[in-house]
Amino acid sequence: MMQLGQRPQAGKIAYESKASEHREALKGLALDDGIPDSKKINEYIKTKRNQIWGDVKPFFMVAQQRKCGFCEVKLTESTGDVEHYRPKNAVWTVRNPGSEREELVNVRGRTYSKDFESGYWWLTYSWDNYLVSCPTCNQKWKSAVFPIAQARSGPPVVGDESSETPLLLDPFGTESPSNHLAFDALGQIESYQNSVIGMNTIETCGLDRESLRSDRQEKAARAYWLLKRLPTSDTESKTQEILQDIREMGRIEYAHSGMVRSIFEQSTGMSWSQLEAAGPSV
Ligand SMILES: [Zn+2]
Repeated sequence: MMQLGQRPQAGKIAYESKASEHREALKGLALDDGIPDSKKINEYIKTKRNQIWGDVKPFFMVAQQRKCGFCEVKLTESTGDVEHYRPKNAVWTVRNPGSEREELVNVRGRTYSKDFESGYWWLTYSWDNYLVSCPTCNQKWKSAVFPIAQARSGPPVVGDESSETPLLLDPFGTESPSNHLAFDALGQIESYQNSVIGMNTIETCGLDRESLRSDRQEKAARAYWLLKRLPTSDTESKTQEILQDIREMGRIEYAHSGMVRSIFEQSTGMSWSQLEAAGPSV
C-alpha cells in the first residue's frame, strides 16, 4: 500500500453541491424512532448511486495514479471501483479468510460473520470516505468488512468514526504502511513486527493472495538485490547509482512502489523522504 497524503481537493466543491442533497435525504430516511431503516437507505443508494460516483472516480483515479488504493495494481478506466472505506450498508467480520482459486478471480472458503445489516450509512456520500480500488479487493475480499480495535455492541451510529480506531489502513490516512506491512524477496506480505493493523489489512483485502505475490515478486527481488549491494559498493558514485535505482523503483505512479518504499525504509532505517531529499528528483 502507498501512503498518498490527503484526499484530492479537485472536484470536491462540485461534488459537495450534489452530495449534500443526498445526505439530507438519507438522514430523513434514517430517522425512524432513531433507528436507521436500512432497507430504505439501501433502496435510495441503489437508485442514486451510479451517476455521482461516476463523477467522483476520475479525481480519485488521478490522485491514486490509477492504482488500487489497497493492493497497488494498475487500474484501467473500466476496472476501478469507487470504494467506501467505511462500508455504507452493512458491517461484517471475516470468519475464515479463504484463499484464491487457481483461476484467480474467485475466492475459495472465505466466510463472514454478517454482524449488522446497517453500516456507516451517513458516510455514503462523504468524499472523505472514498478511494478507488480494484474490483477484486473491493468485491471479492473486503465487501462490508471494517475491523476496528473496539468491540461492537451494535451497528455503527453517527459520530462513531471520530472515536473508533480502524484496523484497516487507509491510503489517504496518517498511518504509514511501512509500520504495518512487510514484504520478502518473493513478494510475500506479512504484518510488520506483528502489527495488528497490518494483520487486519492483509486479511480484509486479501493482500496475501497468490496473484498479488506473483505480481510483486520481480520488484521485491530487485529491491532486495539493490539493497544488498549497498553496503559493499566501494565508490560514492556506485552508491549514488544504487540509490537512484531504488528511487526510480519507488516512483508513486508505478505498481507496488509502496512496497518498494516499505522494503527500503525497513531495511535501512531511513525514511523515503530522506532518500528523495538525498538525490536528484526523478
Ligand atoms: Zn486491489
